[in-house]
Amino acid sequence: MLFFNLYEQPSLIFSTICVSFFVFASFYASIVMKKKSLLYFLYGFGLLLITSVLQQNAGYFYAHAVSIKMMVFFELMLVLFGSILLIISTNHILLKKNLNLGILFLLISIGLLAAIYAVFIANNANIVSDIRHIFPIISMMCVFIGYVFTPHIWKHVGSLLGLVAICGFIGLMSYPLFFDNLYPQYYPLVLISMLALSYILMIVDYLKNELDFVVKSQKKTASNIKNIIRSSPFPIVLSRLGDDTLIMANINALKLFGLEETQISRYHFKDFFVDADNRKLLLERLEHNREVHDFEILVKTAAGNTPFWLLMSANVIDYNNDIVLYSAFQDITLRKRHETVLQSQADRDPLTSVYNRRYFESKVIEKIKNAHVKNNPFAIFMIDADKFKNINDKFGHKIGDKVLIELASVCERSLRQEDIVARYGGEEFVAFIDNVDLQTAITVANRLKKSIADIVVYAEDKIPVTVSVSIGIAVSGVSDNVPVMIKMADDAMYLAKQNGRNRVEVYDKEKMEKVEIDERVSQKSQMHPAFFGEESNEISLLDGIESASIIED
Ligand code: GH3
Ligand code: MG
Ligand code: MG
Repeated sequence: MLFFNLYEQPSLIFSTICVSFFVFASFYASIVMKKKSLLYFLYGFGLLLITSVLQQNAGYFYAHAVSIKMMVFFELMLVLFGSILLIISTNHILLKKNLNLGILFLLISIGLLAAIYAVFIANNANIVSDIRHIFPIISMMCVFIGYVFTPHIWKHVGSLLGLVAICGFIGLMSYPLFFDNLYPQYYPLVLISMLALSYILMIVDYLKNELDFVVKSQKKTASNIKNIIRSSPFPIVLSRLGDDTLIMANINALKLFGLEETQISRYHFKDFFVDADNRKLLLERLEHNREVHDFEILVKTAAGNTPFWLLMSANVIDYNNDIVLYSAFQDITLRKRHETVLQSQADRDPLTSVYNRRYFESKVIEKIKNAHVKNNPFAIFMIDADKFKNINDKFGHKIGDKVLIELASVCERSLRQEDIVARYGGEEFVAFIDNVDLQTAITVANRLKKSIADIVVYAEDKIPVTVSVSIGIAVSGVSDNVPVMIKMADDAMYLAKQNGRNRVEVYDKEKMEKVEIDERVSQKSQMHPAFFGEESNEISLLDGIESASIIED
């Protein structure tokens, strides 16, 4: 029953479904395939459909029209512009460009004149009816020609179906020219559905071709990348970002990492990193930027030989459907070694090889910051060789140098790794002692003084040369300013000299001021005979502790 109904008189729902299917398919096809021809065809065909609806309901519209002639003329204009849009669409199929303006103007003029003649001059219903059919037939034939002269679309099933539908429409529109009875109303719906189906098939075909193209170009890109990597003078490695496995390495990279080409899939990129933090930093950078430039890494070979430095540039790329890290390297081990030597030369004293004053001052700032964070006390020692001029004078500068070298070495060996010893000036050394309170600092200084006193350097004729030092201590708490603390330690050292040398003194502000006064008095004493021969009391600056007890610690 339903089928019978559809056959005789298609329901509104069925018509709507068919037309919507066509509109959707052609609109989607024009967007996906980026074809203006399909869009113009949709617009033109749409106009012709509207006219056909008008014709089907002519009775209703004529009854309500102000002027029947104008109504018919308007209908012919819709047919004319619908047909012209189909011709524009054909032009796009064949030439992929808009219709020449001259031809467009000519077509509109001819159509307009024909419509004016039929409606207003001849006023003949037969001519109107013929125009109504001839315009779309001509335009459909143009579309047909467009199809026929575009051989590459023949092979598509979708295009062929479209061609059949267009032939059907030409037949359908020619029908009233030759026969008086009407064609069954479901014919146009079947043809519209065929056209829509042809678009869908064309889309599928188009997407399939696109996909083939993408796959082919992906393969081509992968093979190009492979060739570029192989012929690069730099070592290059590809590693999968997901599981870090190596997927390719060129000959230079194989040599660099001591690998055989057949084994690379057994290795992970991380296997070559010496420092886990170094690798972590690299991954963090890659996560942010998906590329790194001139990143220094310390690596080892597959056999785990001596670590060496590489400069690395890397990019995250698509390779054979994988997300891959493309890494290119440059061996910078020699440069690094050179840098280390230069750095060490810049930081160390050439004679004694302990740190120099510049390095000491900058490093101590860092150390003090750390000490604050951990709330640790610390001390600074100023160590000055006693009467060193005499050593030079008696045994010569060379022996003096030897003594200084030994002195520096003893300082470094006696103190801990975390302490810093530096040569501050000629025969003056400075030390930062980490994590010590006052009492421990004094103990450490006395032990150091003793170790230095044990140094023996032999001059000519095997004459033993020994040296003693005076040590001034400044402990944390009073000031954290490095130059100020050094000055305090220097003042305390000066006091040790004043108090007879070969001893340790601790900085204390009040007593320091007293010493300055005493010094002025003693300077006066050198001028006044009354002061000659008076002995100074050996009192430590440390409250209540006699310096003798400190020295004998
Ligand atoms: P004091 O106990 O008061 O410190 O007496 P001192 O002789 O050590 O002090 P002074 O500052 O008068 O002399 C320091 C001497 O250290 C003078 C200088 O010749 C010597 N000196 C400085 N640098 C070097 C060096 O690199 N090599 C040698 N051999 N001697 C040096
Ligand atoms: Mg000295
Ligand atoms: Mg000195």
